[in-house]
Amino acid sequence: MAKRYPAHRIKIHRSYTVEEVALLLGAHAQTVRGWVQSGTLPVCGEQRPILIIGAELRAYLVRRQERAKRRLGPDEFYCLKCRGARRPAGMMADYEPQSQSAGRLVALCEGGEGLVHRIVREDKVAAAAPNLSIMHKSRAAELEAPSRVPPECKAEG
Ligand SMILES: [Zn+2]
Repeated sequence: MAKRYPAHRIKIHRSYTVEEVALLLGAHAQTVRGWVQSGTLPVCGEQRPILIIGAELRAYLVRRQERAKRRLGPDEFYCLKCRGARRPAGMMADYEPQSQSAGRLVALCEGGEGLVHRIVREDKVAAAAPNLSIMHKSRAAELEAPSRVPPECKAEG
């Protein structure tokens, strides 16, 4: 999960040096230089030292945060309650088919506050959750009368 920086400390009508930004955000100066060098954070012309435009920096931090929310790593789910990417408790999830090719991975948040889920294509389940034990819930089984596996037949671990 990407670190969250306090964007509100940046004034939009000001410009800042890399060091000032680093201080205000509690970021490493090298991190801030990386944002500039990546070309995604505009600066004031060609002058040195580099001056970062407050308004651009704020917008950049917000975009960055939004992206971090949406982009989940392997085995991660976005938890609304934790407001972040979380792994499932016990590294277990259920796959619930919703169509021929896609479905939901549903799991209990490791934070314990509730269920988390993400929509995945069926052929991408292994890529999205390489280390989780996935219980595939068959769509057909749900439509039929529930037939429960006796507890003694369940494999452990
Ligand atoms: Zn949670």
